[in-house]
Amino acid sequence: MRVRDVRLPAVALTVVMAVAATSGCGGAAPVAAPVPASSVPVSEAAVSPSPTPELSPSLVPTPTRSPSATPSKKASASPAATRAGGAGPRTAGLAGKTIVIDPGHNRNNFQHAAEIGKQVPDGNGGQKTCDTTGTSTNDGYTEAAYTWDVAQRLAGLLRAAGANVVMTLGADTPWGPCITERARIGNTSKAAVVIGIHADGGTAGGTGFHVMEPGLPGPIQAESHRLAIAVRDAYRAAGMRPASYIGTDGLNPRVDMAGLNLSTVPKVMLEGGNMRNASDAAMLKSPEFRQKTAEALVTALSTFLS
Ligand SMILES: [Zn+2]
Repeated sequence: MRVRDVRLPAVALTVVMAVAATSGCGGAAPVAAPVPASSVPVSEAAVSPSPTPELSPSLVPTPTRSPSATPSKKASASPAATRAGGAGPRTAGLAGKTIVIDPGHNRNNFQHAAEIGKQVPDGNGGQKTCDTTGTSTNDGYTEAAYTWDVAQRLAGLLRAAGANVVMTLGADTPWGPCITERARIGNTSKAAVVIGIHADGGTAGGTGFHVMEPGLPGPIQAESHRLAIAVRDAYRAAGMRPASYIGTDGLNPRVDMAGLNLSTVPKVMLEGGNMRNASDAAMLKSPEFRQKTAEALVTALSTFLS
């Protein structure tokens, strides 16, 4: 979807948010005007099972610091997995922690339009579709394939570091699950942290990544903001630029994401790049860069949990 290049001063107390019709993958952006239908990439619209209902614009406070509500976990007997010599990602603080990985969408969603099209609460007084197919590159590499691959790489690295990894979907999950179920899994797992993985479907000229963080005031907002900064910094260091077309310096507080609104544990959702941009797409399609992405997320989670 088209979004305007909205730049906000770092000291802004409020952010005007409006949500455009979208695939629901999280690519909806703060915009200042209705989105012309002609700006929606045809193939993205074609793979979307149904439009996401629009929400009324609302004023959203930016994240503010407040006492941490991070659940603490008992130390486990897992050996420390910090690598010697500086090679590989930072892993301090990961051993024994429960980390939920939420790969956006599902590779089989396109075969289950009815199931994923039902309406579920968005955690902010509205409703959204249960799940969507997500976007894809112009040559057909799907967001669902990307998120699954990065998630598998991330899970392997985290397990090697002694973390207890919970996935919101498995290889045999037929569709979805719904965004409400994804949030429930994070909450009932008593996760120390939940990391969602997506890629965006913006306009072809827009580049870079953004990290969506909870925009609603609440007990997880401050810690999620700290997590968002850790993810932003690590992923930028891996070589992807913060988005040119959405968010501010790679961060994007949101009030329309059920997965964030319904979470009771710190959570962010990485939009790892714009699949509709040729440069970003080349990076997202690269197995080597997806490995770097997973390693960056390990470093970010270590930074957050240490
Ligand atoms: Zn998505």
